[in-house]
Amino acid sequence: MKEKEEKQNKDCIFCKIARGEIKVEKILETENFFAIKDLHPKTRGHVLVIPKKHFLNLLDLPSSLYGEMLETAKEIALNLMKQENSEGFNLIMNNFEVAGQKVMHAHLHILPRYDDNVEMGLP
Ligand code: AMP
Ligand code: ZN
Repeated sequence: MKEKEEKQNKDCIFCKIARGEIKVEKILETENFFAIKDLHPKTRGHVLVIPKKHFLNLLDLPSSLYGEMLETAKEIALNLMKQENSEGFNLIMNNFEVAGQKVMHAHLHILPRYDDNVEMGLP
């Protein structure tokens, strides 16, 4: 079996998006990652950075991809600060169910922050 096939999960929502079976606007695409808007944004402009292959969480993600993941997040965060006038951002990664991970395909949340969203219950 090819590596690409091994690292795709038939029923995984993010794999379906990666394969193009579910059509969503990709904000950015790099060799190993893509970024989409979160379906249920916790703050305005909430974005997810997702590896194209089906890694479960940070522990499953090869460390050789850490740099590309953070570079991608940095580029998006900079764009959000320029285009959406966010004044800062949080990077959050939920790993394992007990930590709040619901989609078991690794992903990094970028939460743009504004003066007016402190009341949303975020730290
Ligand atoms: P987590 O709790 O860290 O696993 O977060 C999963 C995130 O994926 C949640 O914020 C969901 O709103 C988001 N999500 C789930 N399905 C989709 C989808 N089809 N498109 C965009 N975001 C999604
Ligand atoms: Zn997947």
